[in-house]
Amino acid sequence: MAFEGLSERLQAALQKLRGKGKVTEADVKAAMREVRLALLEADVNFKVVKEFVDRVRERAVGQEVLKSLTPGQQVIKVVNEELTRLMGGEQSKLTFAQRPPTVIMMVGLQGAGKTTTTGKLARLLKKQNRKPMLVAGDVYRPAAIRQLQVLGEQVGVPVFSMGDKESPVRIAAEGVARAKEEGCDVVLIDTAGRLHIDEAMMEELRKIREEVQPHEILLVVDAMTGQDAVNVAENFHRELGLTGVVLTKLDGDTRGGAALSVKAVTDCPIKFVGMGEKLDSLEPFHPERMASRILG
Ligand code: GDP
Repeated sequence: MAFEGLSERLQAALQKLRGKGKVTEADVKAAMREVRLALLEADVNFKVVKEFVDRVRERAVGQEVLKSLTPGQQVIKVVNEELTRLMGGEQSKLTFAQRPPTVIMMVGLQGAGKTTTTGKLARLLKKQNRKPMLVAGDVYRPAAIRQLQVLGEQVGVPVFSMGDKESPVRIAAEGVARAKEEGCDVVLIDTAGRLHIDEAMMEELRKIREEVQPHEILLVVDAMTGQDAVNVAENFHRELGLTGVVLTKLDGDTRGGAALSVKAVTDCPIKFVGMGEKLDSLEPFHPERMASRILG
């Protein structure tokens, strides 16, 4: 289970405050030391940890908290609110075009779960009564086009492909044109992922972006890779201007660092999380629910 270690440690750190009739500044400081260690151990970016702990401490030693009837509970409430804030506060939803089709570019490194997530997102949109079309733009990974076609069949949405001999820029443009012809209102473009970020990859993604003017550019990253995921997000955001992040594999035993750091480091919201290999395992990301889940 994701966040297991973090959950346990945070709960243990805060448990000591919970039942107390009186909480002193020293109690809060001691608890915050443990919170800090728990977050660092969960692979949360150290700068993010410092700012988080400073904010909580500042709020928690405030008069209205320590002098309240249930100071321990109040401190926990502050931690919950700040965790929620850290992960983006409000739920961040997709932006849809005023005049369809809405164009969504899916980007990410190989193995992150980009193609699978593209299929899952199409399924989710279809359930919301939209008419998505998938566009097979990953021409470099041999099995990607076929994989997208299979996903399209499973989900019941059309897949536009031109094989692997055409340029991804042309495929993207033709795909959007086809979607218009067929009355599809969302176009999901699966782009090529490489093993590492390189200039050629970014250049190609920028060309696709210029060509299709997407309403959303979603980066798919693997939560299991912790701070690497955050670095990848930072890089893509700088190069492309992302509109959102999808964190995959949150069903695994990730320590949670990526989920807690991405928004704070990149200012790019997490819009969805992948909770499994199955097609119905993509969920909108709710910072508040996630914070409550972590704090138990
Ligand atoms: P791509 O190279 O980024 O297109 O990656 P794929 O979509 O092919 O996915 C790589 C692997 O990750 C596949 O085995 C997927 O089933 C798996 N995967 C994707 N999302 C999730 C998720 O949320 N949870 C788990 N457990 N596995 C996932």
